[in-house]
Amino acid sequence: MLKKVAVIGGGVAGLEAARQLAALGYQTTVYEKNDHAGGHTSEWDRLFPNRRPAVEVVDTLKSQLNGNPAIVLSTPITELLPNGDKFTLKTSNKSFEADAVLIATGFELFQAERKEEYGYGIYDNVITSAELEKMFTEHGTPLMRNGEKPKRVAFVHCVGSRDEKVNHLYCSKVCCVTAVKQAIEAKEAIPEAEIFCLYMDLRMFGPGYEELYKEAQQKGINFIRGRLSEASELDGGRLLIKTEDTLASRPLKMSVDMLVLMVGMTPAEGTSKLIYNLGLKPNADGFIGVSDYHLKPSETGIRGVYTAGACSGPNNITDSINSARSAVVEIHRYLSVKEP
Ligand SMILES: Cc1cc2nc3c(=O)[nH]c(=O)nc-3n(C[C@H](O)[C@H](O)[C@H](O)COP(=O)(O)OP(=O)(O)OC[C@H]3O[C@@H](n4cnc5c(N)ncnc54)[C@H](O)[C@@H]3O)c2cc1C
Ligand code: SF4
Repeated sequence: MLKKVAVIGGGVAGLEAARQLAALGYQTTVYEKNDHAGGHTSEWDRLFPNRRPAVEVVDTLKSQLNGNPAIVLSTPITELLPNGDKFTLKTSNKSFEADAVLIATGFELFQAERKEEYGYGIYDNVITSAELEKMFTEHGTPLMRNGEKPKRVAFVHCVGSRDEKVNHLYCSKVCCVTAVKQAIEAKEAIPEAEIFCLYMDLRMFGPGYEELYKEAQQKGINFIRGRLSEASELDGGRLLIKTEDTLASRPLKMSVDMLVLMVGMTPAEGTSKLIYNLGLKPNADGFIGVSDYHLKPSETGIRGVYTAGACSGPNNITDSINSARSAVVEIHRYLSVKEP
């Protein structure tokens, strides 16, 4: 009998792990709550650092779902229980059994309404970075609610991250480079537009990121160091934003046509409940805690249950794919060698 592995979540991490597990001979099933695979990556237009179409990455991973690994869509797993040396996964009306489980439930976007002072959901032309990705996919350009192209656009970094007020002290890691990428794309779509990035500090940690920042500077994107304090709407729908230029040490007021909020990553809904019955608790940031940050980044502390991707903390696609492969090694060791 083939050993069964259940992968919870069909984002890039879950799909890559499933492909590797099936190649090692395990009967692998991905359980995905949405009606499509690919997770958040399927919502992006072009990816940093090289602006490759996201659909290329998602389609490559999806093309490997061929029966083994299999994917079961529209199936949110709500409970995960130990069952002898196996595990039971439950939905509202079904249950599944597996010899080992990979949790790859990813993240949710920070709810921008929580930063009331920025006016998301109140003013027409305050949008999120995720909504701008959708605009790029559908129209190839930022568009205001009235269908016109904006002439001044400001990107606001760290929305819902590094913010004591919303109790998220962590950095979401991908939003600085996403802002720089989107600022370049906006400038390319509307060359006459003035584009501003309002940042606390720029965290361009990955390969190709610094080059993207240089490109943005060469293309005339304006970088202002300061945290937005509030936005308000002026007559005609323009937005007045107030910040402090912390490099020049002076308060700054400016008007823009569109404000793009770089929303951070928050723990996926339901994941803390999912791990609860195993006796596991989320870490201080609410993500899945791993056994040893340096030496056992795929282990949860429960033998037979592993984790990959952004459900253990903010990650880019490359890191999510790498963590999926590292989790597969641990699952293989557990199922084939059964050593501690
Ligand atoms: C605005 C934005 C732009 C980005 N752009 C880039 C980029 O250009 N390049 C890059 O490298 N990275 C980018 N990222 C980061 C990238 O999106 C993540 O690294 C990647 O999505 C993580 O993949 P994942 O599989 O871990 O999680 P996810 O993409 O979140 O996928 C998790 C999956 O699990 C499913 N799931 C959750 N709970 C359950 C459950 N209980 N039962 C069943 N299924 C469940 C979800 O429906 C989802 O399909 C961006 C992030 C943001 C916020
Ligand atoms: S990556 Fe940049 S924008 Fe995102 S939380 Fe970190 S510092 Fe802020």
